[in-house]
Amino acid sequence: MEASKAATKVDCLVIGAGIIGLSIAHELQKSGRQVLVIDKGEPGMGCSYGNAGWITPCFAMPLPQPGMFLKSIGWLLNPDSPLYIKPQPSWLLFRWMMGFLAAMNETRLRSAVAVLTDISKYSLTFYKELADRAPQTFGFDQKGLLMVSKGEDGLRAAEIEMQLMQERGIPGKLLNGEEVSALEPALKPGLKGGVYFPSEAHSEPLETVKALAREFEAAGGRIQTRTEVFDFGFEGSKITEVATTRGVFKSDLIVLATGTWSYPMAKRLRVSVPILGGKGYSLITNSFETKPTHPIMIVERKIAVTPRADSVRLAGTLELVNQDDSITSRRMNNILNGSQEYMHMQKGPEVREIWRGLRPCTPDGVPMIGYSKRWSNLFYNVGHQMLGLQSAPGSARLGADLILGRSPITDAKPFRPERFGG
Ligand SMILES: Cc1cc2nc3c(=O)[nH]c(=O)nc-3n(C[C@H](O)[C@H](O)[C@H](O)COP(=O)(O)OP(=O)(O)OC[C@H]3O[C@@H](n4cnc5c(N)ncnc54)[C@H](O)[C@@H]3O)c2cc1C
Repeated sequence: MEASKAATKVDCLVIGAGIIGLSIAHELQKSGRQVLVIDKGEPGMGCSYGNAGWITPCFAMPLPQPGMFLKSIGWLLNPDSPLYIKPQPSWLLFRWMMGFLAAMNETRLRSAVAVLTDISKYSLTFYKELADRAPQTFGFDQKGLLMVSKGEDGLRAAEIEMQLMQERGIPGKLLNGEEVSALEPALKPGLKGGVYFPSEAHSEPLETVKALAREFEAAGGRIQTRTEVFDFGFEGSKITEVATTRGVFKSDLIVLATGTWSYPMAKRLRVSVPILGGKGYSLITNSFETKPTHPIMIVERKIAVTPRADSVRLAGTLELVNQDDSITSRRMNNILNGSQEYMHMQKGPEVREIWRGLRPCTPDGVPMIGYSKRWSNLFYNVGHQMLGLQSAPGSARLGADLILGRSPITDAKPFRPERFGG
């Protein structure tokens, strides 16, 4: 890239105004840095737009888990499975799958759960305080979370998760079928049982991004939209310029928070960031005979049901893709049919809004948070898979701790970008 004389110098440049970029920008600005966030679109219009809105430390689990090996072979072959991996000749997919399989063991699971619950618990407290400072602005509600199952296997899986989370100080209660129905009448009778986690919360995802953006700007931070990064300039071990569609920027601290776009971005940066998209859908409907009052996880179908002020959000499915955001009716219908199987819904439900997003997934299910090995002024905060909303404030705090040389809120080692060469 040609050096430009008209470059704008900023103290700290964050690329990406999703929940992750804005959270770290907010944290750094609060800590005395002068931050500019740039985005190719508007804040929160990427994966942070229509997610299930769960802030649930009880789900602070990485994608790869022990015992998934045979299941993951099945996912390669079945486009109707809640997790689907379309077989295709791709070096990235091959490398990703190798890392995914290698992470499926008890030791890696426990190490991931320990740090992911730490940052998720931090986030829950952060959002609670944000809701106190800005009441009624982003739909924050602490109704707990109910996992429900029709079968013995699903209930056992929920119970194992409850036990694992209890070790991390997250309370949960095992319920039988009658107790589940009494707690949530929107569910059809006849379920085997479930687990209720009373401390979990949910919010409106886009409004949460906006609430953070407002605080960030009120503290003096700046957001520049419709500014797409397309190239970089380098000198020695430093990124000297960031070329965008609206000017060239220079900064001693560049934070990459580009979610699922991090892989193409990393190619430009000549670094390794093996992030694939975990495509999922969310559907907004009001076609409920009895509206649910709690967020519900339907274990067998992996469907997340979230009550909203005037409707309900049904979210689910994970299809591993590289930059493919096409919409598949079959996968959306699986969410609707699965929800109807468990809940009192009207026939032929009316869907008010269809959304799909690509969860930024690393092979081991742990985000990359830390400095680049190759570029001394590049810091990553990417790869938050299914947990971006609930881990954003915690990972921002950890990121700022590392940048500012403070004692980190949790063990930073599992997040180190250099495990992928980055
Ligand atoms: C169906 C579904 C349900 C989910 N449910 C939950 C949930 O309940 N709880 C939870 O915690 N998580 C959930 N998630 C995951 C969560 O949505 C993501 O982890 C999170 O949104 C990722 O945030 P991000 O800021 O990293 O990415 P994004 O929100 O995608 O932000 C990245 C930003 O980078 C910008 N960008 C990219 N390239 C460039 C460029 N070249 N130049 C400038 N800007 C660029 C994009 O425009 C975008 O705004 C869910 C996801 C899905 C799909």
